[in-house]
Amino acid sequence: MNTVAQPVATLRLVLGDQLSTRLAVIAQADKAHDVILMAEVMAEATYVRHHVKKIAFLFSAMRHFAEALRAAGYRVLYVALNDPDNSQTLEGEILRAVAHLSPARVAVTEPGEWRLAQAFQALSLALPVPFDILPDTRFLCSHARFARWAQDRKSLRMEFFYREMRRDHGLLNEANGGPTGGKWNYDADNRKPPPRGLTAPRRLSFRKDATTRAVLDLVAKAFPEGFGTLEPFHFAVTRTQALRELDHFIAEILPRFGDFQDVMMTGEPYLYHSLLSAYLNAGLLYPLEMCRKAEAAFRAGHVPLNAAEGFIRQILGWREFIRGIYWRFMPDYADKNALAACEDLPWFYWSGETQMSCVREAIAHTREHAYSHHIQRLMITGNFALLAGLNPQQVHDWYLAVYADAYEWVELPNTLGMALHADDGLVASKPYAASGNYINRMSNFCAGCAYDPKVTTGAGACPFNALYWDFLARHRDRFAGNARMPYVYATWDRMGADRQAEIRAHAENHLHAMRAGTL
Ligand SMILES: Cc1cc2nc3c(=O)[nH]c(=O)nc-3n(C[C@H](O)[C@H](O)[C@H](O)COP(=O)(O)OP(=O)(O)OC[C@H]3O[C@@H](n4cnc5c(N)ncnc54)[C@H](O)[C@@H]3O)c2cc1C
Ligand code: SF4
Repeated sequence: MNTVAQPVATLRLVLGDQLSTRLAVIAQADKAHDVILMAEVMAEATYVRHHVKKIAFLFSAMRHFAEALRAAGYRVLYVALNDPDNSQTLEGEILRAVAHLSPARVAVTEPGEWRLAQAFQALSLALPVPFDILPDTRFLCSHARFARWAQDRKSLRMEFFYREMRRDHGLLNEANGGPTGGKWNYDADNRKPPPRGLTAPRRLSFRKDATTRAVLDLVAKAFPEGFGTLEPFHFAVTRTQALRELDHFIAEILPRFGDFQDVMMTGEPYLYHSLLSAYLNAGLLYPLEMCRKAEAAFRAGHVPLNAAEGFIRQILGWREFIRGIYWRFMPDYADKNALAACEDLPWFYWSGETQMSCVREAIAHTREHAYSHHIQRLMITGNFALLAGLNPQQVHDWYLAVYADAYEWVELPNTLGMALHADDGLVASKPYAASGNYINRMSNFCAGCAYDPKVTTGAGACPFNALYWDFLARHRDRFAGNARMPYVYATWDRMGADRQAEIRAHAENHLHAMRAGTL
């Protein structure tokens, strides 16, 4: 461990997803007397089988952040993964730094995951000095604000939460308090199917400097069994680069973000999505600046309202709502399995080896980029997991591992709540279940598939079709009363008992094939 000459007043821990100078733990630091501690540790890099690109992105961004802090005059103690004295846990590194530096107190920003929050609570009892856990002020809705909104409500719906957030932050709001354009939500104008000849916009790619190259070497050696591919690596790793990515998105891509939000295309992982979540969640960008830039582009006449509103809703609405749900309902939330789903996660989620071209494609994007866009997460890998009845906790471990933007506070309610309906409708009022028909309409995946999206039973039938009907039949008691479901149950009833039995037997065959690794 480096020797730091002067006495230390406060040891300030900065976690890998807290790379923001506006956080109090840094903003309030006394450059002469405090030390900022950052540590790459195995415990954090391996508690699920993280994508190697995710590990490399975070280590490189951490190292660049530490350098920027040093350049700004802060005293930084940085523990690399291969430091021989590294205890390989965050608690161990705090204790080691405390023993070495004898600070008067230790401070950290509240972590984004329950398990770490618990570990820090326990550590505060073991430390010989006071341990201050400071609020994470990067979010637009504090824990107290969410609790105030949620209290006494029978159901928590993102749409109503979002309207309050729009008012709180004055985003797309008019002087009379009403929404710009007269409506709060322009979703009905979004989500067009792909037009013929749709092409993906140009993307930025950042040159790898010596720091990033050193990290890539380290990760290749330290995680030979890690999921996914390390190269090509084109992530932004500094705030300056992340801001360039944001500005490029606003100028070139946001104008069509709303229209093509749901489109999926072979070989095109990004399409009109922003690719900003990894930077935002790690602290390189701030949510309010992203929303304000989108609003400014709309007010300047550069971006249509449906695109600006849709983008702002994802960040100000969904992202903050999801975080509120996580902290309000943890730790019980993590064990929820309302649909008693118990199938093991099939191996093809890791390998991509399946004949279903939509799933293969989504997993190929995931393996190569540590990214797939929202509709692939929700309506391909999530939808399959929902219909096939995969165990929610296994699915959750997978989502937490494979995406560069994945932290439990945001991943868990999206997986258990939005994709799997395992929370009994807390996040989503209706299950996001869809047949091959939806995937065929919104993508070009089916054209290259061994299965036929128009066929439900018999040779070559799309597995999503029989599994979809079987899912609805299995959970009829739960969903038949849902105001948005009568139409699908009426269709099912019109099929008659023989056809229904045939479809359900076919669904069982798909599950056998899934278990045998031949689907
Ligand atoms: C099963 C499942 C798991 C998910 N896991 C994660 C995760 O681990 N981390 C994560 O950040 N997002 C997660 N999401 C939400 C969403 O898919 C990603 O935020 C988005 O795909 C990131 O890509 P983007 O930056 O191009 O987003 P865009 O489509 O361009 O959206 C803009 C921004 O809005 C925010 N956003 C959009 N939708 C959501 C949402 N549902 N919840 C929270 N924020 C949202 C993100 O910050 C995103 O960068 C998950 C969704 C599902 C269905
Ligand atoms: S046919 Fe079915 S399995 Fe194949 S790509 Fe289309 S939806 Fe997916």
